[in-house]
Amino acid sequence: MTQLPLRAQLASALGRTAATLSRATGRGDGSVIGGRVGLALEPDLLRKLAQDRKLALVSATNGKTTTTRLITSALQDLGEVATNAFGANMPAGHVSALSSAKHAPYGVLEVDEKYLPEVIDTTGAGVIVLMNLSRDQMDRAGEIWLLAQKWRRALAGRQVHVIANADDPLVTWGASTAAGVTWVSAGQPWKEDSWCCPECGGPLDRKGMEYTPPGSAAPGPVPAAAHGAVVSRAAENDWACRECAFRRPQPTWFLDDDAVIDPHGQRWVLDIELPGRANRANAVMALATAAAFGLPVQQALPRLREVTSVAGRYTVVQRDGRHARLLLAKNPAGWLEAFDVLDRSLPVILSVNAQGPDGRDTSWLWDVDYRVLRGGPVFVTGERRLDLALRLDIAGVPFQLVNSFEEALAAQPPGKVDVIANYTAFQQIRSEFGRAV
Ligand SMILES: [Zn+2]
Repeated sequence: MTQLPLRAQLASALGRTAATLSRATGRGDGSVIGGRVGLALEPDLLRKLAQDRKLALVSATNGKTTTTRLITSALQDLGEVATNAFGANMPAGHVSALSSAKHAPYGVLEVDEKYLPEVIDTTGAGVIVLMNLSRDQMDRAGEIWLLAQKWRRALAGRQVHVIANADDPLVTWGASTAAGVTWVSAGQPWKEDSWCCPECGGPLDRKGMEYTPPGSAAPGPVPAAAHGAVVSRAAENDWACRECAFRRPQPTWFLDDDAVIDPHGQRWVLDIELPGRANRANAVMALATAAAFGLPVQQALPRLREVTSVAGRYTVVQRDGRHARLLLAKNPAGWLEAFDVLDRSLPVILSVNAQGPDGRDTSWLWDVDYRVLRGGPVFVTGERRLDLALRLDIAGVPFQLVNSFEEALAAQPPGKVDVIANYTAFQQIRSEFGRAV
């Protein structure tokens, strides 16, 4: 790291002081206020702090906090890594993350989808990780096609290495102007935002298509067993426009059920601690990113196993003999992921708010297929519990309406219960039970 100019050093130091004060007064983790103070004093601070570091930026609608954490864990083997672990994913949060690890030669930054072009430009990051795009915060976020278009413009002509999920057509379109892309087949369970070709508006075909196995693209031998798995997995996720030449590029990394298949065709079981398909997809993205930094799977995978909970997600909190596992679901695609992790033999508490960070518009509840919850006890709470109750009633899901999370928990028999909550509802539960990470 080269020495920062005096003004930038001062801005960085005052920012850290503000963050410390914020924490000391119980106003949060301080990463946003600290960064804001720093940027107010030196508007070019982020650029200066990013200089001479090897940075990866991670963006997506879902999974960016977890994937940032997984990549960070893997890169620790190379040296100190600066990261915005608390999910403050706009420039103030990035300033704070880089300020608090001044000498770290590496950085892994979660970046809000809308801010990605600006942050790419400011930081000059060399590695960009793009995972999925779907509807989110419907009253605030613009059309996601416009977001992908901004990504395209930001990446065009830039010497960056993009790691992108080829199974998401919109992500593929957003990433495909980059000079170098490593395509990953990480899956796309939520398809409701990508039935149309982003290039021409024509229909996307997804199944029953002719498929060419990846033999020529994979450097090195492909064991017969793995090869078969690759073909079936890839065929399942393949897509192409019916009306123009836009189609899924050939991936070199594959998520194959509980395993990853690397570019050499070698299959590695993803025996990570984080549960569910979505986290295995995050892990594949993290392993492909680690490889871009020169770390082989056998070295990176054990580091991924060390991550057991991310900013409270999957944490189990306890009260009076009830053990509640916390799952965060912020948008329809996220609910799909949470249902995948849910233990169907247990009761489930659902909590929905509609404060600023959640998006004020709860119409997205109608995009989630709640019928999977039929047959088990369901408790509904949160500030917008009536919105959710109406939705469940129409879906034919029996439920019990309760006034608070505490009341919902007290209504459970001693033992385990799963909780799915959206953003501020999740944070309320976390603060009530202490900020377990
Ligand atoms: Zn098309």
